[in-house]
Amino acid sequence: MRCVICASQDIVKKSVEEELRLGNDVVLLPIEVLVCLNCGERYYDRRTMRLLEEIEDKIRAEEMDLRTVGRVLKPVAA
Ligand SMILES: [Zn+2]
Repeated sequence: MRCVICASQDIVKKSVEEELRLGNDVVLLPIEVLVCLNCGERYYDRRTMRLLEEIEDKIRAEEMDLRTVGRVLKPVAA
């Protein structure tokens, strides 16, 4: 497999924290995805995409236990 961004062949499965944005909230999900080691592009297979959608639905339905680990901040003027 070649990276579509940089054409590198250094693509490996890595554990990453996927950032899921829901309005002003950000949920960090530990998942395994294929990552290009050269440019950092992530590749999601169909199964991973579906998993992320399911998790998003669960979060929206408040069926997932989440804890606060940080804050989301913006400049006052923005
Ligand atoms: Zn790349």
